[in-house]
Amino acid sequence: MQRTPLLISSILRFGTTLHGDQEVVTWTAEGPRRASYAEVGRQAAQLAHALRGLGVSGDDRVATFMWNNAEHLTAYLAVPSMGAVLHALNIRLFPEQILYIADHGGSSVVIVDNTLAGPFAGLLAHLPKIRHVIVNGPVDEATTAALSAPAHVVGVHDYATLISGQPTEYAWPEDLDEDCASSMCYTSGTTGNPKGVSYSHRSNYLHALTAAMTLGIRQDDRLLVVVPLFHANAWGFPYLAMAAGATLVMPDRFLQAAPLAQMIETEKVSAGAGVPTVWNELLRHLETAGADVSTCRQLVVGGSAAPPAMMRAFQEHHGITIVHAWGMTEMSPIGTVAIPPARCDEGSDEYWSYATAQGRLVMGVEGRLVGPDGSKLPWDGESVGELEVRGPWITASYNRNGTESDGEVAEMAAKFSDGWLRTGDVGSLSADGFLRLTDRAKDVIKSGGEWISSVDLENAIMAHPEVVEASVVGVPDDRWGERPLASVVLRAGSSVTPEQLRDFLADRLARWQLPERWAIIDEVPKTSVGKFDKKVLRSRYADGDLDVQTLS
Ligand code: ADP
Repeated sequence: MQRTPLLISSILRFGTTLHGDQEVVTWTAEGPRRASYAEVGRQAAQLAHALRGLGVSGDDRVATFMWNNAEHLTAYLAVPSMGAVLHALNIRLFPEQILYIADHGGSSVVIVDNTLAGPFAGLLAHLPKIRHVIVNGPVDEATTAALSAPAHVVGVHDYATLISGQPTEYAWPEDLDEDCASSMCYTSGTTGNPKGVSYSHRSNYLHALTAAMTLGIRQDDRLLVVVPLFHANAWGFPYLAMAAGATLVMPDRFLQAAPLAQMIETEKVSAGAGVPTVWNELLRHLETAGADVSTCRQLVVGGSAAPPAMMRAFQEHHGITIVHAWGMTEMSPIGTVAIPPARCDEGSDEYWSYATAQGRLVMGVEGRLVGPDGSKLPWDGESVGELEVRGPWITASYNRNGTESDGEVAEMAAKFSDGWLRTGDVGSLSADGFLRLTDRAKDVIKSGGEWISSVDLENAIMAHPEVVEASVVGVPDDRWGERPLASVVLRAGSSVTPEQLRDFLADRLARWQLPERWAIIDEVPKTSVGKFDKKVLRSRYADGDLDVQTLS
């Protein structure tokens, strides 16, 4: 067979020519803004010419500090296709973490949305490697002045002006090595310092194909991409949409349930992708305000465990299938997708047992379960161990730039064993390859020598009709070592008590697993990508900042 490299430019060329009349829709305060894929292709060429003009060459990194919109998609395509490396920065991290990641990534050029230019200007003084700032959308003079102020900034450019007049075609290099870096992402730091991963052209290409196939994405799909383009490679959606010829609906900064419901209704969205908290809020909104979501057939949910009660409510009340998927930044990110076997009748117990698992290992991802003593455990659906994975879109190492401490280097090395990535996730595998996670290794509650799954507790509590959200963490306990603390958000006006919640759990969980400690809170703290932030809950508890009721 002929050997042509698997490059992002092939995805770009295919999507923007053969599917040139498909579109990317960006939500704005005035409603939808549309660009055809053909236009995206022309603007990608213009952006690449402009970046060359700013001195981007070789495998230089180009950062983005942007929402999900057409220009971010354009950068996702143009930067890797020209041979450079795209680094989408997580706009929601704490300033110190953004600075760490941006500096570690080493970009010399950054593209910033106008609505984020103010906050970014505050960071720029501490990012001495950045020489050019490209601002997407108009900004006032004061912001431009603030962006221009640091001595290391050579130029501040308006995106539209910079690319206008540039040629609308670009000779994308065809001699790139498919194994070279095309983009990079940092973990969201849920359990520790963010670590950087570099995806190759090949890994992104293969991941897009498998993801599109497994999720069943088609050219008549209209995909609402709520997962940020900076979170875990946007779950592959920019590339898989181009590969499938599906239309993209990008919410920009309008991420609340009301505008998302409006997008689904007016843009006739057929499928979407986001973390559980996003869809949970959408569900509440649909219950109270309503919207026509009849075009939507599936919402992919990952990043943390999808609450079964939420999955059932979407299916039963709105006809929307929640497709549960599991992955990691390190895995591009998709590892498993929970599509129940064809023999299962929809709605049957067997169906739900499969649908609520993390999912079946996708084609291309190998898994093995490792016990605490290093032994390999059987795929019997019962043996519980740490999952290790390998495959063509799973990283073999973390990014390093020589500034890491010995401790950090050792921590990174410890994530790999014999060519496999240690996921830090604990669970079982069934004979037909379905992963069922018990917990993150760091979140499992070790109570008197037994393990309690914080996720099982959360799911059971969230099945209570008066509960909006619940997060469970292990807290120190004199007698048992650790015991669960449940922090619960109730529906407005609810007067349910912790005793009643515990009674509700009694026939779902073993008695010794039921939490004694309960805190009713206004909101579960979230990480930068919308996961429950258990670090914050643990430290609030340690600092005595939670109003905890202890049941006898
Ligand atoms: P971070 O580790 O900083 O949160 P990632 O977003 O890459 O960064 O998170 C990957 C982790 O998220 C996985 O190792 C797993 O613990 C968790 N995760 C992802 N998807 C799921 C899921 N469907 N169910 C449970 N946990 C999940």
